[in-house]
Amino acid sequence: MSIDAELRERAVKVVPGGMYGHLNAALHGPAYPQFFVGGEGCRQRDADGREYVDLMCSWGPVVLGHRHPAVEAAVAAQLAAGDCLNGPGPVYVELAELLVETVPQADWVMFSKNGTDATTQALMVARAATGRDKVLMAHGAYHGADPWCTPSTAGTTPADRADLTEFTYNDLASVEEAAARIEGEVAAIIVTPFKHDSFEDQELATPEFARGVRALADRIGAALVIDDVRGGWRLDLGGSWEPLGVRPDLYAFSKAMANGHPIAAVTGVDSLRAPAQTLYTTGSFWFNAAPMAAAKATIETLRDIDGIALMERAGTRLREGLAAQAVSHGFTVNQTGPVQIPWLSFEGDATLEKGMFWAAACVEEGVYLHPWHNWFLSAAHTDADIDRALQGTDAAYAKLRAHFGAD
Ligand code: PMP
Repeated sequence: MSIDAELRERAVKVVPGGMYGHLNAALHGPAYPQFFVGGEGCRQRDADGREYVDLMCSWGPVVLGHRHPAVEAAVAAQLAAGDCLNGPGPVYVELAELLVETVPQADWVMFSKNGTDATTQALMVARAATGRDKVLMAHGAYHGADPWCTPSTAGTTPADRADLTEFTYNDLASVEEAAARIEGEVAAIIVTPFKHDSFEDQELATPEFARGVRALADRIGAALVIDDVRGGWRLDLGGSWEPLGVRPDLYAFSKAMANGHPIAAVTGVDSLRAPAQTLYTTGSFWFNAAPMAAAKATIETLRDIDGIALMERAGTRLREGLAAQAVSHGFTVNQTGPVQIPWLSFEGDATLEKGMFWAAACVEEGVYLHPWHNWFLSAAHTDADIDRALQGTDAAYAKLRAHFGAD
């Protein structure tokens, strides 16, 4: 029996279902290992010692590569000095200053742990500011796993979601209609910087949509919240809609902010400073100093090495390679989203039969990517790493063709 299988057997006895949430390997198919023991740069090793070129980066948090020396040195120094103390360390102020300096929208910052903390906290700020309850969100968008937003309704009540009204991403008219239906009641419009719903091709935000939701929020007196938990620190260090020239009232960040160390942040504009101050929002580990030291080192390193350009280079090489291979094996594929947060689907593969088969074959070939969730690149992916990944994807296309035939 493999070590992974043995661990799963033991886990099932002591954890409901053995594993839950987005890292549950049962959701990804039998080729996927559940347990991992190490990572270095853009490689990860599973419990049975198999090594993968990592195209998931732990579902986003790892942006500089696993065990990045500058980040780990900052963490080690902070751990040696003290991490969980009776109050935050000086690094709390230093990191908040760095965020205000790096994100042009940010006049202030509040820290927490997970992306869900940040999206929930952003909506609390919006509600405190407006005295209104309702929130407009895109149908199918993921904003976290609290009862108001978890994709499964198990364990939640209708009241948890009663204040949500949905619109269609990139369809400004649908946002205007949703707002009109609950006129005078909208506290916030929450939107991701691009459409990255699971199981679907990704969609970049059109400039008209981005500008339109900004103008609508202003017109109806609601806060515009960008949930940049997934896009943040990979698309633009100033916030993911900075290239579009659209600034939200509140940004929610987490994932890649500290290269895998646990921290999240909301950044806000001056007019929301006073309402933000009225919230009681906290957590036992929210003010730990080591993840803050990690975040500071991560953001400074991304800035110093132009990490985003490195990810774009790796992502472009991957996309071009995958496109050429698809043609050579006779498949039509759709590659969508920003190149550094890519996804690939097969044309006409509504049931994801081909996609699941191909992704599993990639895993067997030592390339860890995902069949129905977008992938993530890091600044540690060199040309040679991408070429190694492409060897695996090429072999996976060949297996797919042997199994299904060409398109
Ligand atoms: N918002 C978005 C856009 C996300 O991608 C995620 C995590 N996948 C979250 C919120 C929730 O973050 P977390 O899992 O850290 O709570």
